Amino acid sequence: SEDLLAAGRKAYDLDREHVFHSWSAQRTITPMTVVQTEGPYVWDGKGHRLIDFSCQLINTNIGHSHPKVVAAIQEQAAGIATINPAHVNAARSEAARLVADLAPGDLNHVFFTNAGADAVEHAVRMARVHTGRPKVLSAYRAYHGGTDLAFALTADPRRNPVDKATAGVAHFMPAYPYRSYFHSTTEQEESERALAHLEQTILLEGPQSIAAVILESVPGTAGIYVPPAGYLQGVRELTRKYGILFIADEVMVGFGRTGQWFAVNHWGVEPDLLTFAKGVNSGYVPLGGVALSDAVYETFAETPYPGGLTYSGHPLACAAAVATLNAMQDEGMVANAARLGAEIIGPRLQEIFEAHPSVGDVRGLGAFWAVELVKNRETKEPMAAYGGSSPEMNELVAECKKLGLLPFQNMNRIHVAPPLNAPDEVVRHGLDILDQALAVTDRYVTG
Ligand code: PLP
Repeated sequence: SEDLLAAGRKAYDLDREHVFHSWSAQRTITPMTVVQTEGPYVWDGKGHRLIDFSCQLINTNIGHSHPKVVAAIQEQAAGIATINPAHVNAARSEAARLVADLAPGDLNHVFFTNAGADAVEHAVRMARVHTGRPKVLSAYRAYHGGTDLAFALTADPRRNPVDKATAGVAHFMPAYPYRSYFHSTTEQEESERALAHLEQTILLEGPQSIAAVILESVPGTAGIYVPPAGYLQGVRELTRKYGILFIADEVMVGFGRTGQWFAVNHWGVEPDLLTFAKGVNSGYVPLGGVALSDAVYETFAETPYPGGLTYSGHPLACAAAVATLNAMQDEGMVANAARLGAEIIGPRLQEIFEAHPSVGDVRGLGAFWAVELVKNRETKEPMAAYGGSSPEMNELVAECKKLGLLPFQNMNRIHVAPPLNAPDEVVRHGLDILDQALAVTDRYVTG
């Protein structure tokens, strides 16, 4: 309506005057205004409806404004809106039970945080105290969050150049079949060589000094590159061999995104610690957490855990989690995500790959896919250099939006991540738009 659009214009002016944005050179940006959201759609500041293939930052797994979750938040707000985390409260107890029931293995205990980055911070602290060892290993081409330690683990070129949180952090090369660091030509080679490299890294860093290896089960922001068969199982075996804890970072992939409740389930891997956020309640209220194995829990059974948060298990956030996880179960959303990937998104992206010379690779599973744009399929020269965007990518995103699609862009990639419950025809329409928009990048293909 006109009122919403007028409110949006006012919000934009105030934003530019007073709001400080994440990851941005403040004066150079022209952020999109959102005036309304509903299911798989958002409406921009001009009132245009866009299909949301970004799920914002890959968090609205059940779509926007799910009525059951909205009602649960309203009901909780009218009851106990907030409470000291030392006190038992029904919303948090039930949310913890649901997470523990859904999580793999003996991850039977849950520490709630405010989001993903602090979940990572706490998981690492738990691992350090549990093992008495200082170091943590993480992969290059990962994303673990924007706080100091989580960002040090991230190994991203955007990293704060004056950051000092890197003490005890070491990195290894990930298994990334499309751009193999190990000159592999098959998935099996990639898996074996990446594991041999990880073992060498562990040996050179000194196993007795390593508390944990942290890995995204399917790396998300850095490219949705699904690990080759055997890789995660191999990481599990290596960490066990050297008495190192395995932290699975499932902040982006947890709660159904990949077509399983947790992505590690695809490979039958049981981590010692698992971090989650985003999908646990679709981000309607900020929430994250760490699921701990029985063994790690025992370390803190008689000795206090050195950490805490005012809002650990905030009732509004936990009530939203309970309603979200129940709605996902009742409405079969995880199986639907698997079906969307196998029957609609995967096959259509394959056609898109065949039709567009600027598409170098398509990959993913469930409702979690990447389209990697290149200037040249032979050399794989990316359409935007690692660590930034490019005029070509910006033009592609603008074209998608013009045609009615809100994509998730990172560097030279477009991610396809619709809500797990998006209607088939909406997903198909979004993919048609992407197909049409890719004419833009095809024009920049060389050779
Ligand atoms: N870990 C992973 C795998 C993520 O994808 C993210 C966010 O995208 C984080 C951690 C950080 O989560 P948050 O932004 O909620 O702090």
